[in-house]
Amino acid sequence: MPWITRGLSEGVPTSRYPRQPDGYGPTWFGSVAVRSQQDTGREIVTGQVGTGSGRGVVECPTGAISAAGSQITVDRGRCILCARCIGNEPGIFESDPSVEVAVSGREMLVVVDGDSGPALGQEDDARLIQLQASLAKRTRRLHRSIHIRHVDAGSDGSEEWEIAALTNPVYDVQRLGIFFTSSPRHADVLLVTGAGSAGMLEPLKKTFDAMPSPKVVIAAGTDAISGGLLAGNYATSGGIGEALPVDVWVPGSPPSPFSLLHAILLAVGLLPARSAGATDSLDTTRPSRRPNQRRRTGRRAKRAPEGQGQ
Ligand code: SF4
Repeated sequence: MPWITRGLSEGVPTSRYPRQPDGYGPTWFGSVAVRSQQDTGREIVTGQVGTGSGRGVVECPTGAISAAGSQITVDRGRCILCARCIGNEPGIFESDPSVEVAVSGREMLVVVDGDSGPALGQEDDARLIQLQASLAKRTRRLHRSIHIRHVDAGSDGSEEWEIAALTNPVYDVQRLGIFFTSSPRHADVLLVTGAGSAGMLEPLKKTFDAMPSPKVVIAAGTDAISGGLLAGNYATSGGIGEALPVDVWVPGSPPSPFSLLHAILLAVGLLPARSAGATDSLDTTRPSRRPNQRRRTGRRAKRAPEGQGQ
C-alpha cells in the first residue's frame, strides 16, 4: 500500500489553523497595503486602464484606488488583486500577505495609507457579536457544528475552487465542526459568491428566507462585495449587499481558503470580531509547519509540547 508509507513519511498535512498560525497562508497575495506618500515624496494620480500611465499615475481596473491631496485610499472590497498598482508604484503600494482579511463592516475594507480607516465598524462588531451569541446558543445543542449553504450568484468559478479546497486534507474544515449542506433549512451560514447576477437575486433571497433564524450571511470575494469588474452593468448588481443583510465581508479575487475559513470562524464566533484598526488575532506570518513537511512521530512526538517537533 504505497499511500501508507507515503503518509508515514510525510506526516499529517492538515493545518492547525486557527489553533496555531500556518505558514502556508502568507504565500497568498492577501490584500493591497498603502504606504504613506509622505515617506516616498510621490504624488499619485488615479487613471483608467488604457489611458496610458506615466510616473505617478496608477491605473486601477475597478476604481478601487482614490487619491485626494496627499491621502490615498484603497477599497479592498473593489480590489481584484491584479497587482497593477504595485507594478506602477511599488514604493507606495505593496502586497499584504495576511490572510485574515474578513471584517464585519463594509466600510472597514477601505484602508487609508495602510491603516483601516478611523473608528469605523464598532457598531457592526456589536451587531455581529449579538448575532453570534444567538447562533451559538442554538448550535451548542449540535456540539457547535455549523452547516453552510453556499450559493453561487454569478461567480467566475474561482471562489468555488477555494471553497472546495476547504474540505481537502490540508484545510479539513470538518475537524472544526463545519459542514456544507445542500438544504437551506439545515443551514446556519449563507456563503455567497459571485457578482449578484440579475437572474440569481430571487433564488438568493428565497434561500435566505428558507434558512432558520438566527443566520449569518458571508459575502465571499470581491465580486460578491462590490460586483468587481462586472459592477453596475445590465446583468449584475453592485454586490450581494443590495439584496441581503451581509454580516461578514471577505475580500479577494478569489479569497484564499484561509481567508474563507477566517470569515466562517468570525461569523460563528470562534474568532472575535475585530474593530477597525485592530491587528490580526493570529500572526500568520510566523513560520510554521507547511503541508507535506515532515512531522516527528512516535512516543517522542507525543511527549513534545505543542508547537515543538514541527
Ligand atoms: S491590485 Fe487592486 S487596487 Fe491595485 S490596481 Fe489592481 S484592483 Fe486596483
